[in-house]
Parts: sequence; structure tokens; C-alpha cells
Amino acid sequence: MTVSAHKETLDFQAEVRQLLKLMIHSLYSNKEIFLRELISNGSDACDKLRFEGLSDDALYEGDSELKIRVSFDKAARTVTVSDNGIGMSRAEVMENLGTIAKSGTKQFLDSLTGDNAKDTRLIGQFGVGFYSGFIIADKISVITRRAGLGAEHGVHWESDGEGSYAIETVEKPARGTEVILHLREGEDEFLDDFRLRAIIRKYSDHIALPIVMKKASKGEGETEAATEDETVNHASALWARSKKEISAEEYNEFYKHVAHDFEDPLAHVHSQVEGRQSYTTLFYVPQRASFDLWDRDKRQGVKLYVRRVFIMDAAEQLLPNYLRFVRGVVDSDDLPLNVSREILQHNRNVEAIRSASVKKVLGLLEDLAKNEPEKYQSFWQEFGRVLKEGPGEDFGNRERIAKLLRFASTHNSDDAETVALDDYISRTKEGQEKIYYITGESYAAAKNSPHLEVFRREGIEVLIFSDRIDEWLMSHLTEYAGKTLQSVAKGSLDLGKLESEAAAEEIKKAESEFKDVLTRIKESLGDKVQEVRISHRLTDSPACLVREEHDMGAGLRRMLKSAGHDVPDVKPILELNVTHPLVARLHKEQNERRFGDWSSILFDQATLAEGGQLEDPASFVARLNDLLLLLPE
Ligand code: ADP
Ligand code: MG
Repeated sequence: MTVSAHKETLDFQAEVRQLLKLMIHSLYSNKEIFLRELISNGSDACDKLRFEGLSDDALYEGDSELKIRVSFDKAARTVTVSDNGIGMSRAEVMENLGTIAKSGTKQFLDSLTGDNAKDTRLIGQFGVGFYSGFIIADKISVITRRAGLGAEHGVHWESDGEGSYAIETVEKPARGTEVILHLREGEDEFLDDFRLRAIIRKYSDHIALPIVMKKASKGEGETEAATEDETVNHASALWARSKKEISAEEYNEFYKHVAHDFEDPLAHVHSQVEGRQSYTTLFYVPQRASFDLWDRDKRQGVKLYVRRVFIMDAAEQLLPNYLRFVRGVVDSDDLPLNVSREILQHNRNVEAIRSASVKKVLGLLEDLAKNEPEKYQSFWQEFGRVLKEGPGEDFGNRERIAKLLRFASTHNSDDAETVALDDYISRTKEGQEKIYYITGESYAAAKNSPHLEVFRREGIEVLIFSDRIDEWLMSHLTEYAGKTLQSVAKGSLDLGKLESEAAAEEIKKAESEFKDVLTRIKESLGDKVQEVRISHRLTDSPACLVREEHDMGAGLRRMLKSAGHDVPDVKPILELNVTHPLVARLHKEQNERRFGDWSSILFDQATLAEGGQLEDPASFVARLNDLLLLLPE
């Protein structure tokens, strides 16, 4: 190795420094995973070479036997992991080993608590990859060269993992990457053939490439060169093996490799399809949401293989957006090796695989919901909001997705989202044709909304939606199992037989009595409201606002408005509770001005109760105070 020009010392990105410090500390109890991470990177690098090699055979430089080598040197106290994969250019080294490109890094670092157990989990979830080498090494050297570049384009990167790294251009005849860990004091346990092999078998057996080590030397006189390579791992694609042969641990370790996760998955589904089309899918549901779950541009995690050759990360082509939490592989026997992203989008084979994949994943979730409800509940907590995008995105599977949704409900005393539509239906009252729901800014606002009053009185369950996406969801999910989903804040509520006869009778009687008052209030409020009418919904509150059946609800309107959309202004309907003393009082009010004040106050109150903002809060306060002053002292 001849040292040539251009040596520099550079600072790590601040986030890297912070992460390194935390990681060494919190992952120490699990330090052997450094090997898994480095092998995983070597395997990714070989996959990338295979893919680029499809269109440029020269990248192989005459050596197409891809493999990963693990070795150690007792005297120098180093452990080395090398691969003959794609390698890195100088710019790539600086980008990959000096910064963290992950979105959400800052939020992640901010979310750390100082509580070691918790942080360890978070760091594991974030994934530390290459940097995990610093758990056991106080110096790491990386010597790498990008396939296709001349030997003089090698790069030597070196760091003690404190604040900076040195980088220089070196000569490297063989393409690929060599990572040399200079062990910290006290880490000599890794200078052991048996130990290293055990770690490889434990964590990296599923790696499809051979991971080789020198055969343990038998005699004194034997030189290094004389000993031959031995493959330590299984060295075949895990998903291509028979399901019966794969242990739970192997599935878990493979997941960590494809998903770049440190934690075990929540569940998996593996299927090998043979017939007119042959393909294998292995999908995992993670335990926890990744940090970029809400980053719309980042869609990774499902890898496409063609006959065991890695082609690309193709999550977008292989699964719809609402299943973007799924990780895994799809391996097709029928696609051409040179398949491009564009071709994938219009390929009939891919379409068939995609639709079967969706069914597999939904099947897995159904299975969890049925047989392991606790696991399903934990899935729902992490990913429920993503799944709620389903009914809007995937018309064909709407009913199946709807079955998997979970909601808060007036049936429960807390805000836990545990009620399935089927649970609701099993509790409907005799003659109840509809599934009722309410949407609100928050659980508390929805739960205490005046719109629920009559439902409480009649003992009818109402689902409570307070997620931003819920109103949007309901615009796509209007029916389930033959029952209409009905907002309690929309349309003219007709509970029919469900409403108690006495109450219905009373309202009927009031109708002619209040006719004039309603007209007067409408005149007084002008075009603030579309209509003023008698309510069937209220038992305690004097008034509430409702919308026409097909109008946008107040929450969705606010959400779209705040996102800068032009939302057509639809006037609400003011409904009055004729059994309320305030309304009765209004009925008797002769003073025109005071009548106007009462009307405005009722309207403003109703607006506040649905989480809305008053157009003129100062006037509301002034009117209210005027009327308060009328109270006897
Ligand atoms: P991740 O594997 O999750 O991307 P890592 O920290 O393990 O994160 O690696 C960071 C990046 O460094 C990789 O994405 C890859 O681009 C590069 N890299 C690491 N090891 C190798 C290697 N052996 N060969 C080529 N590139 C590598
Ligand atoms: Mg990695």
C-alpha cells in the first residue's frame, strides 16, 4: 500500500459524534452485533455490484465469486471484515462514513432520554450500522475501492471514533472494502476463531453469500497461505429454503438484515408460489415504526430479487403506500434480470405479485388480530394511522382493510383504539341500521360534544374519531357489512325506533309552537347559518351545529384550510334543544336587541363546542357580559 497524495482530516457531522458516544455506551452489553452489521454491509455491497454488473460486466474485473471474509490477527489485535463488493469512491466514503443521511436523525437524538434501557432500544431501532464497530474498537481503518475505478483510486479512511476521521487516497488492487477493527483494551475475546464462527452462525447464517474464514490451523509449521478457506454460514438465500427448515431465530436475524433494524420483527409471512408464475415473498411487520415512516419520499424496505439476484429496493412497485411499514423480499423467477423501475410499473407479472402480496400482508394482519390480539393491538398503536390510508387507496380491498381498523368508542371509558367495526355491529341495538361516529379535534372534544347527548340517553354506541386522518378516512369508507357509517354531526338525525317515544312526542309538539322563533333566529343570524331547526340530538345543551349529509365536516375543513387549500364556505345548520330553559326563554323574549344577543350567543357557543373559532370573540364576550348583568344579585 503506497500512500499517495491528498490526505485530509475531517470532522464528523455533529450528529455522528453524538450518536457514537451514546452508542458505545448503550450497546456495550450486546457488543458482538458489530460483526453482524459489518457482514450485512458487505452483503449489501455485493448485491449492489451484482445489480450494476448486469449492465456493465467489466465491474467484476474478472472476479465474480462474491464473498465476505472474516479474519483476525492476534499479534496486531485486529479483526478484519472484507468483501469484494461494489466498494466506495472517496466521495462515497465521506458521505457514508462521515455523516448520517437518515431523515429524522435530529428528532431521534432529541427523543433520547438519558434512561439507558430506553435509549438502548431507541438506538437499536434507529440502527447504527457501521459505527457499531466502535463498541469494541478504538480505531477503525477502512480500505476500499469502487469497482470499475483503477487501483490508484483506493481510499483509506481511519478514525478513533472521537470527533474526526482521516482520509487519503491509496493504491488498492482488489475492488471492494476491507474494514479493520483495532480492538480496545480488554476485547481480546474476539481474537478467537471459535468465537467469531459462533457469532457468524448466530447472526449471519442467512446471508446468501459465503462468509469465509481460514480453516483453523492444525499444526505449528503450517503457514497462512497453506490453509484453505472454509465457508462458515449456510450461504443460500433464506427465503428460497423450505419453510420447515427455517427456525424462528433465522427468520428474525434475516429481518434485521433486510430491515436494518436491531429489534426482532412482530410477525412474518413467507410464501413460495409455483405455477404459471413462480415467485417467493417474505414479508415482515416490524415491532416499531421507523423514523422515516412519515417521510413521503422515503419508501424502502422491500427488496426485489430476480432468481436470487438483488435488483433494487422496490417498495413502491411491490406494495401500496398504506402498507409502507412492511419489510422483506420478493424474488421472482419470471422477470428479466435487466428489469428497470419503469418496466416494473407496467409489468403484468409485477402487478400479479403486488396484488398477491397485499393479500398476504392483509392475511397476516387478520391472523394476528384473530389469534394474537395483544400483538395486533401493539401493531395498531404503531401503524394504525398508516393502515387508515388503506380504504382511500385500495378500493378493491376496502372491506378487508376496514375489518382491521380499530377505533375509540363511547363503549369504552378511555381513549384506547380497540374497537373493531365488527365489535360495534355485535352491540348494535335492535333495529339500528347505521354505524354512528363522531369526529373531533381531540378525544375529549369529541367525547363531550353535544352531538352525543341523545346517543347517550338512548344507550347507542358511537365511535370516536379524533385523528386528523379520520375524517378523510370516513369520506372513503361510507359503508361496512351493509351498514352505513353515519356522522352524528351531519344530516337530519333520524333515529326512528331507537328514539324514545316520549322524547319524540315532545319535539313533535314543540314544532308548531317554535315555528316563529326559528324564523326570527334565522333572520337575526342572517347568512351565518343555512337553517335553524329543532334538534333531535340534544338533551342537555341548548344548541349545536350540524352539516348537510354530504358536506365536509368542520375538522376536515379546518385541516384543508390550514394547508392552504381553497375550501368552499358551507354554512352550518343551527339546531336548538326545545327542552332547554335558555331556548324557552328566547321563545318569550320580546326585546328585539336582546333576542339578537341570545341568538348570537347560542350560535357562538355551538361553534365553540365543535372546536371552531369565533369570527368576533370580543362581541361574544360583550354580549355574554350584558346578559350576565341581567342576573339578579
Ligand atoms: P446502512 O447499512 O443501514 O445503510 P451503515 O452504517 O451500516 O448503514 O452503512 C452506511 C453506508 O456505508 C452504507 O449504506 C453503504 O453505502 C456504506 N458502506 C458501509 N459498508 C460498506 C461496504 N462494505 N461496502 C460498500 N459500502 C459500504
Ligand atoms: Mg448496514
